[in-house]
Amino acid sequence: MRPFVYTRVDTAEQAVARAAPVDGTVGPTNSPVQFLAGGTNIVDYLKLSCWTADELVDINGLRDEHGSIEVTPDGIRFGSLVRLRQALDHPAVVRDYPVIAETLGRAASPQLRNMASLAGNLLQRTRCGYFRDVDYDECNKRRPGSGCAAIGGRNRMHAVLGVSDSCIASYPGDLAQALVALDTRVETLGPDGVRTFPVRDLHTGADRPEVETILAPGELITALFVPSGPHTRRSTYVKVRDRESYEFAVASAAVALDLADDGTVTDVRIAVGGLAYRPWRADAAEEFLRGRPLTADSAEQAGRVALDGAVTHGDNDHSPELGARTVARALIQAAQLQV
Ligand code: SF4
Repeated sequence: MRPFVYTRVDTAEQAVARAAPVDGTVGPTNSPVQFLAGGTNIVDYLKLSCWTADELVDINGLRDEHGSIEVTPDGIRFGSLVRLRQALDHPAVVRDYPVIAETLGRAASPQLRNMASLAGNLLQRTRCGYFRDVDYDECNKRRPGSGCAAIGGRNRMHAVLGVSDSCIASYPGDLAQALVALDTRVETLGPDGVRTFPVRDLHTGADRPEVETILAPGELITALFVPSGPHTRRSTYVKVRDRESYEFAVASAAVALDLADDGTVTDVRIAVGGLAYRPWRADAAEEFLRGRPLTADSAEQAGRVALDGAVTHGDNDHSPELGARTVARALIQAAQLQV
């Protein structure tokens, strides 16, 4: 582990100023100054040396300002430093946004959920073994232009949606699928001031693996706003994994549904995880389902549409079928909820 400078700040403005852009920095992921919240991802990765930083700016002093949950008539706003456990236990989250509670309840372990922040969880980096093990030279995400050891290597847990010839890493988080499905808006403070944008725009594509988000260096996520709607209560998350605790998804689906009395889909939101390069909204599958009755057959067809265009690399040849079945199961599960 390389030595780094540890700094504490008391305000968001101080944090942003401390992490202001440095010449040659292409994105916040590669910035020599990183924010430290729960530390459950970055500290691990600093120890492995697959992620390096010269300075960590501890933002936990901002929790009074950015560590609470506000329920409004229009939706629910999470401060970026809200802990996973805190959101998971909130009655309004459990009642009105169950898909969020379910992603949080299936993420990591209880100890990690006590520490990890919502924004940090959203920004967690891939678990690709070749990325994490610096003995492998070929990793475009860690060393741009070096190649991708996973293509032609061991890739059972790698992505099949949104991949490129440069990188097939899968996005590992759970919460992001719920937030993407529910059209969450990200609020930030950066060197250029305040901005908001849809969470589905946060993560960038696989053409430049070394750049992972649209955040500017020094730009801090301050809040996540989830709009309310008739679909949020009828929402759920299915996570398929190798063991039922403390494990990343091999496939997952977050679904929110609004159904007419006769079972016709009036609104549907689907996000796929575990097998996509970034949190993945299944727009075509949603379009397919709107106006149709939700049945076992239509759910199965929607699952196949969601995985349309999947690209496999050998060990993960099973992923499109698994992903399609996971989406179908989530849709049926949501339809059966009593709301
Ligand atoms: Fe690196 Fe991406 Fe290839 Fe993994 S899949 S080795 S992260 S370039």
